[in-house]
Amino acid sequence: MERSEALKILEKHLPEKRYVHTLGVLETALTLANGTNLDLKKVELAAIFHDYAKYHPEAEMKELINQHFPKDLLKFDKEIWHGPVGAYLVKTELGIDDPDVFDAIYYHTTGRANMSLLEKIIYVADYIEPGRNFPGVEEARRLANENLDDAVLFAVQNTIRFLVNKGKSIYPDTFHTYNSLLIKKEELSVHEK
Ligand code: GDP
Ligand code: FE
Ligand code: FE
Repeated sequence: MERSEALKILEKHLPEKRYVHTLGVLETALTLANGTNLDLKKVELAAIFHDYAKYHPEAEMKELINQHFPKDLLKFDKEIWHGPVGAYLVKTELGIDDPDVFDAIYYHTTGRANMSLLEKIIYVADYIEPGRNFPGVEEARRLANENLDDAVLFAVQNTIRFLVNKGKSIYPDTFHTYNSLLIKKEELSVHEK
C-alpha cells in the first residue's frame, strides 16, 4: 500500500491531534531506521497504523480480545488494548498481512521480551516523536541517537515509574521489556570486563 493511500485511510479513523502524532512517529521511525537493514516499507506501514485502533469502540475491542487474544488483557487498563486490536484490524480490514508489521503494532504500547529491531523502532519513535513533550523526552531523544536498546530501556523505566506513581496496574509484557533489556545490558558489561 502506498504511503498516501495509507495516510488517507488513517485520517478517517483518528482525530486531527492523533493524526499529527502519527506523522511525527512516521518521520521519527524512518530516521531511526536509516542505515539499518530494515525494509522501509514495513517501517512506514507499522508507523502509520500503530494507533489505528486508538479510538475503536471499547465494546468491540473487548469482543475482539475475547475472540483472538489472551484474555488477561481485559483485566488491565483499556489503554493497552489498542495495540493488539489495531494489529488485528490492520490485517483483517486493510489486508496488510505481514507478521513483522503485525508484531510492531501489537507490541507498540507494552513492548515484550526480545523485541525485533522494527518493534523497538516503533516503540521508541512513539515515545520521542517531535510532538511529545514531557520531562525526560530530551534524554530519550539523545539515547535514541546513540543506542536504541538504551532508549527502549529508558522509556519503559519511565513508563513503569509513571504507572506505579499513579497506582495503575502494569501488564506483564511491560516488565518483560524492562527485564530483558536490563539483563542483556548486564551480560554485555560482564563481557567487557
Ligand atoms: P499512544 O497510544 O501514542 O498514546 O502511546 P502508547 O500506545 O505507548 O501508550 C498508551 C498508554 O498506555 C500510555 O498512557 C502508557 O502510559 C500506557 N501504558 C503503557 N504500558 C502500560 C501498562 O503496562 N499498563 C497500563 N495500565 N498502561 C500502560
Ligand atoms: Fe498507542
Ligand atoms: Fe502512538
